[in-house]
Amino acid sequence: MKISALTIFPGYFSPLELSLIGKAKRGGVLDFKILDLRDFASGAHKSVDDTPYGGGAGMVMRPDVWGDAIDSFASKDDASVIDLVILTPSGRRFTQRDAEMLSKSESILFACGRYEGIDARVQEHYRRDSRFRVHALSLGDFVLNGGEVAALAMIESITRLIPGVIGNPDSLVEESHVSEGFLEYPVYTKPPLWRDIEVPEVLLSGNHAAIAKWRSDRAGEGRS
Ligand code: SAM
Repeated sequence: MKISALTIFPGYFSPLELSLIGKAKRGGVLDFKILDLRDFASGAHKSVDDTPYGGGAGMVMRPDVWGDAIDSFASKDDASVIDLVILTPSGRRFTQRDAEMLSKSESILFACGRYEGIDARVQEHYRRDSRFRVHALSLGDFVLNGGEVAALAMIESITRLIPGVIGNPDSLVEESHVSEGFLEYPVYTKPPLWRDIEVPEVLLSGNHAAIAKWRSDRAGEGRS
């Protein structure tokens, strides 16, 4: 699977070398391309932003720089459809359903904004282009300095659904959010007694039906 990101801080993506994702990358299961947006900026200062029309604080990312970068990416990508994820706190909140949908993508390109965000025409333009499926997504109802951390979180949740990334695929079967509203039950391991707190007896009983019932009764209590 091909996952790419356009950012002014390519170094933010170095964690993709680590852990299961890094291993899957080295094994050829995942293919990452992290592109520097500034490579598409012109002028001595390689500026990617300008003052907002209508006034107000901060700077807005220029549509011409983003357009050149996305077009250049698309011209070298062989996918028939590219999932363009535009990261924005005003977008639809990302969920496990989005992770599932994007885990089936041929090619995903994350557009990581900075400053006051990306000129709105970028989204409008690529929504009109049938080569792209545009998703304006938010990681949650809070504001980050940039889209990189949101992209990393989404990449982790998407890629762990791809066969070959997680060592034991059974771990994905009973996870929180696997179906709408499902939350996992509390989990325990050795030792059976820790700081005066015992593991619930039923989990040591070997009675699979009783364990399943206990787990179903306790599912989701982490939210209470
Ligand atoms: N002015 C924008 C607003 O009020 O909606 C916030 C811009 S934010 C400081 C800069 C960039 O960080 C955004 O363009 C976006 O790419 C990213 N970002 C911030 N919060 C985010 C979130 N919750 N989810 C996804 N991306 C986020």
